[in-house]
Amino acid sequence: MKKELAVAALKNGTVIDHIPANVLFKVANLLNLDGSDKLLTIGNNLPSEHLGKKGIIKIADTVFPEATLNRIALLAPSARVNIIRDYEVVDKHTVQLPDELVDVVHCNNPKCITNNEPMHTRFIVINRNPVTIRCHYCGHTQV
Ligand code: ZN
Repeated sequence: MKKELAVAALKNGTVIDHIPANVLFKVANLLNLDGSDKLLTIGNNLPSEHLGKKGIIKIADTVFPEATLNRIALLAPSARVNIIRDYEVVDKHTVQLPDELVDVVHCNNPKCITNNEPMHTRFIVINRNPVTIRCHYCGHTQV
């Protein structure tokens, strides 16, 4: 816990920790932090025993929907999400890639119906490490 003090403590909000340093800004983009007016701390290249270097994002007064956390799981399966209330961690979980991703990613196959009709995309997760997903509609596999 002491190590986390490298980044300022948070009263209420969400801490996303153990983000590999090389995807930190992708995760930040995904969270739409650009448009947020909340107190925000981003730390990168912090030393990590498991990842070598890691990133951390702290956002005050914000809780992200599960669909957003699922998107993070795609980019950073090692990430951990802590929900903070009154400086205490009240909920701590690893992000989990669900078995199915609905409307999370676009199919890379230009001929796929999901790229030609206004509809939700749907992918089946066929491998978690490394992440491989298959389009439910056209069978296209992508990483
Ligand atoms: Zn497809």
